[in-house]
Amino acid sequence: MATIKLEIVSPDKVVYAADIEMLIVRSTAGELGILPHHAPLVTGLIPHAMRVKIDGAEKMVAVGGGFMEVQPDKISVLASVAELPEDIDADRAQKAFNRAKKRIDDYRAGGEDINIIRAEAALKRAAARLTALGKHGE
Ligand code: ATP
Repeated sequence: MATIKLEIVSPDKVVYAADIEMLIVRSTAGELGILPHHAPLVTGLIPHAMRVKIDGAEKMVAVGGGFMEVQPDKISVLASVAELPEDIDADRAQKAFNRAKKRIDDYRAGGEDINIIRAEAALKRAAARLTALGKHGE
């Protein structure tokens, strides 16, 4: 089966690099499926669990937002944070999810003023981690 190189880089390391069959991402313009020989493209990514098809199986990688550059033979993801499922602390992610959700719910119920954009981004990062662990339906 045809493959395309994928490299996912966070500020401190290469999180994942492999020859893959397909990448499904949530971009700022909607969901995109990238196959080998895709047309060149640059887009922003929102926090979500990316789906990597490799060797006939699917692997998840949580990203906290960033950019993706596609060339016909290579996909480069520059992420603000990225984790493989085996590196995700489920308890921490669940606590972050609950904390962000409560802040947003309290704010919507007329509570104290908060940075809602920041709270929603934290909720999305936590949801991405839980989804990558198969614990949450985004
Ligand atoms: P928290 O509120 O739990 O700190 P956060 O979404 O604010 O979560 P980030 O700012 O996205 O955290 O990430 C800070 C650092 O902590 C990054 O290196 C990220 O990979 C790591 N990290 C955050 N949450 C987890 C987790 N649940 N499991 C493993 N690493 C995590």
